[in-house]
Amino acid sequence: MRIPCNGLVIGLDSSEGGIAFLSHAHSDHTSGIRRHKQIISSFETLDLAGIDLEPFSCDGVKTIDAGHILGAKQLVADCDGERVVYTGDISLKPNILGFKADIAQCDHLVIEATYGDPKYVFPPAEAVYDMIHNWLNKNSQNNLLIGCYELGKAQEMIRILNEYGIAPLVTKKTEEFCSIYEKYGVKLDRLVLGSEEAEEVMSRSFVSIVPMSRAKRYFAYRLAEAFERPTYCAVATGWALYHRFDTDIAFPLSDHADFHDLVYYVEQSGAKKVEFFCGNGTEVLKARKSLILNK
Ligand SMILES: [Zn+2]
Repeated sequence: MRIPCNGLVIGLDSSEGGIAFLSHAHSDHTSGIRRHKQIISSFETLDLAGIDLEPFSCDGVKTIDAGHILGAKQLVADCDGERVVYTGDISLKPNILGFKADIAQCDHLVIEATYGDPKYVFPPAEAVYDMIHNWLNKNSQNNLLIGCYELGKAQEMIRILNEYGIAPLVTKKTEEFCSIYEKYGVKLDRLVLGSEEAEEVMSRSFVSIVPMSRAKRYFAYRLAEAFERPTYCAVATGWALYHRFDTDIAFPLSDHADFHDLVYYVEQSGAKKVEFFCGNGTEVLKARKSLILNK
């Protein structure tokens, strides 16, 4: 996607324009932008993406917080007399690290619709934390694996576990992202797999954050055999609301806006023109229409 803006073309998480806007460092957004030389983004995002550039700036264009993960931004561009907002991935409610999206008034809104289906309404964060807490309590003598995306969700989960007094084991890849979070002031207690401290902790029951592909029953079973200790696995993702995973439990912890959040954003933005990406926004627009009719 791209937008024409005051004689320039800005690629939206894409290399299609003379200038690129990179909303955040998840790989489905960074691919294609890496070789670009003029990237509007945050220092945090460029760091997490491993792009060795300073953020680019140009007249009429600014960024605002998107929530979601460290450094995530939305683009606000005053282009040829109209204000365009591109959200990238957003989360409206503050997560445990305090990240949350601002809402910008605009004429033209380009917004994600990952959870644009009315069935995707997430429980309050506190209810999900309680669910995780209960599972930890029930399994204090067992090994636990929690599958998370290594950038964003893993760091949220580490903080959730830290609040229960647990410093989880993490992979080297997750550790690279954690150290960048810490560089920007987000404290995370964790142990890196393969380190001496981790080896010591693994002589007792432990909690480990693993990539989603490792959070499977067969893998937990193999660990149970190797450690001679019961081992259970979980995933933490918004998809847990309706998808089945090959795990013992699934926590609906999301770093995206849910259906109600999307309707709220579209309504509050006042946008006359709304486009969606990463999903279908038909139901979001229908819900906004009925909100306006009922006012
Ligand atoms: Zn993302």
